[in-house]
Amino acid sequence: MNKIFAGLPNTIFDVMSQAARDLNAINLGQGFPEDPGPLDVREKAADAVLNGYNQYPSMMGIPELRNAVAKHYAHWHGLKLEPMSEVMITSGATEALTGAILGLVEPGDEVLVFQPMYDSYVPIIRLAGGIPKFIRLEPPHWLLPEEAIRKAITPKTKYVIFNNPLNPAAVVYPRDNIEMLARICQEFDLIAICDEVWEHVVFDRRDHIPLITIPGMRERTVKIGSAGKIFGLTGWKIGFVCAAPHILRVLTKSHQFITFTTAPNLQVAVAYGLGKADDYFIKMRADLARSRDRLSDGLSQIGFPVLKSQGTYFVNVDLAPLGLNETDEAFCKRLVHEHKVAAIPVSAFYEQDHVTSVLRFCFSKKDETLDTALERLSHVLHA
Ligand code: GLN
Repeated sequence: MNKIFAGLPNTIFDVMSQAARDLNAINLGQGFPEDPGPLDVREKAADAVLNGYNQYPSMMGIPELRNAVAKHYAHWHGLKLEPMSEVMITSGATEALTGAILGLVEPGDEVLVFQPMYDSYVPIIRLAGGIPKFIRLEPPHWLLPEEAIRKAITPKTKYVIFNNPLNPAAVVYPRDNIEMLARICQEFDLIAICDEVWEHVVFDRRDHIPLITIPGMRERTVKIGSAGKIFGLTGWKIGFVCAAPHILRVLTKSHQFITFTTAPNLQVAVAYGLGKADDYFIKMRADLARSRDRLSDGLSQIGFPVLKSQGTYFVNVDLAPLGLNETDEAFCKRLVHEHKVAAIPVSAFYEQDHVTSVLRFCFSKKDETLDTALERLSHVLHA
């Protein structure tokens, strides 16, 4: 058996969702909305299932969707992509990330990874024979530390994985931090693998800035997106990979032996959805920001030190100022068992030098769900 996988625990998302089901708890752990998602997009998918598009689509994705992705990013970010040579559709961002890492990383290559990190990156880097080099981000601001990045780089460093907006920290990186990373990539000849699945879930009129749009990055960036987050349809697993032709050509070769293609009916619906007017995206952000405020305000009133969420479906609380003698993991266990609310311990997103005082709550839920969770949490700190 392959030790990389045999030694791994189940992902924290599955563990907490299963605990929530077993204990009949409110699940503010794994990130998914309670809302069923845009009706028109779901109707397009239903129509495509009934009236066509059920055989293998082309390996790169259906042309309608590749065109729609290119048009979408031209509209939102002024990014010009040639849809047939620079855009590929995958079965979710998870597959896109796996394919990018397996396609690019060679044995012995070092890959910079910012902790907290999404849990799929590191096992796949290791599977490719690569060596993850961890850089620790910290609350409350979680900004990229230039000095630590420079210190981590060696002649073997070839790639950096950058998740922006950052799950779980709920940070939307500011331009100066992104430009600093771009400078480093160019100075040390690194390729950036950018996990931008949360690109549309940004609040308070913040702009998501794709690293690929920074001068000098167009030829050395793999941009990864996911319809699951753009439309709040997390089970759909439709991902997009955008990169210059010399990079994408290689990634098509890994994709063809991971999943080869992706559900064509859902691709049709996503192609339609990406063309929706700006109002849809603006309203989605405003609705989520309202839920963010409802949960954040409620948590603050209970006495939790809330870290303001700038994007994603998540808000974090930092228990450190409370001086509790309990790790985030122990706290989460107690929350789900005794108070029937599931959250995620942020230490699960670290492999070294864990930050052990932060809990992540998902707020993309109905008001009643958030209110019931808050009611249950109101006793936690004063038990
Ligand atoms: N992205 C979601 C989260 O962070 C869920 C991911 C998963 O279940 N693998 O909660």
